[in-house]
Amino acid sequence: MKPKIDPEDELICLGHGEDLAAQMGAMAPPVVQTSLFAFPSHGELMDGLRTESRNHVYSRGQNPTVESVEEKIAALERGERAKLFASGMSAISSVLYGLLKSGDHVLFVNQTYGPTMQLAEYMRRFGVEHDLLLDVDIDSVRQAIRPETRMIWLESPGTMTFLTLDIAAITALAKEREILTVHDNSWATPLFQKPLTLGVDIVVHSATKYIGGHSDVVAGAVVANEELLETVFYNAFLLNGGALGPWDAWLLNRGLRTMPVRIRQHHADGLAVARYLAEHPRVRHVHHPGLDDEDDNSTLSGYSGLFSFELDSDNYEDVKRVVNGLTRFRIGVSWGGVESLVIAPNRGDNAEALRAKRVAPGLIRLSVGLEGAQILIADLRSALDI
Ligand code: PLP
Repeated sequence: MKPKIDPEDELICLGHGEDLAAQMGAMAPPVVQTSLFAFPSHGELMDGLRTESRNHVYSRGQNPTVESVEEKIAALERGERAKLFASGMSAISSVLYGLLKSGDHVLFVNQTYGPTMQLAEYMRRFGVEHDLLLDVDIDSVRQAIRPETRMIWLESPGTMTFLTLDIAAITALAKEREILTVHDNSWATPLFQKPLTLGVDIVVHSATKYIGGHSDVVAGAVVANEELLETVFYNAFLLNGGALGPWDAWLLNRGLRTMPVRIRQHHADGLAVARYLAEHPRVRHVHHPGLDDEDDNSTLSGYSGLFSFELDSDNYEDVKRVVNGLTRFRIGVSWGGVESLVIAPNRGDNAEALRAKRVAPGLIRLSVGLEGAQILIADLRSALDI
């Protein structure tokens, strides 16, 4: 598949919507590095506070540099409004805290980012229950919905094995039952998938990944309609205090400038590396949505560079040897930067726990960066030969 990016999105990323006059002609928008904003009169400050989500009063609420990036992310996702957060987890926790109450149930569909599930577990003490559904067909989703299900949480492709969901079918079912849907779109970015156009109510991002794109900023985003965004803003964001600083927002803006170019390269090199691994005799399976013939649900117009493969062995020593044998892939958490990364969930004592989550203990996750597919393939060839 050739990656497709809407030309309008390329222009948004490049900053064509920016108000150059307001920026005093600066091609790089200014960083408004201030914690508060002064008002000409008491009355105007009171008016500002009444609608703090819209006004520059205090940078824990709103700040012009942050706001300018929010406008771009909302436009890319085709959403009404976006809010940036100090991390992806801050965005995720604010959606959960801001929209749920005791007695509610959340259905997580597909393999979901670990700390999101840890947070869901923690929320049991506040009376919010959840289930994690790994059978992702629509009948299983229908059966797993409870009368008290208030939210369905989707990740497509999912964490670790990158299975995709029939997002439109799930959102249609959720709408029938008046259940909110949330989609973690960090993997695809709004350039390759727009969940709001498929009926999803709320999109969350770890902007730390491809939006920032250079492993130099931790950030998150929520995109939704006015009403939901205001609820998350006042119920959670403003009170949890997980605001993104103006300088970090500026780094996200710089990341956006090159996101279309980067993500096209991640697509091409990720597929090339995945195809190489799929033919390798020491590889049992490659989990990449672009290789999976059975995967006909895809709403993706391209693939990012994150995927995993299973060694022909589930043995901890074998997994360790391959990971340590790589020299171009750095060993580390996270993904979505220019450098290639490798990580394996096998800790030597958790094989059963991994299998229960349908993750093979021989699984190794790669984030393909921008070094070039041939260099990375050569690196994998020698690591798999050890
Ligand atoms: N969602 C997914 C799919 C992730 O992989 C991550 C982080 O790895 C997050 C959310 C959390 O984002 P952050 O690390 O920016 O808090």
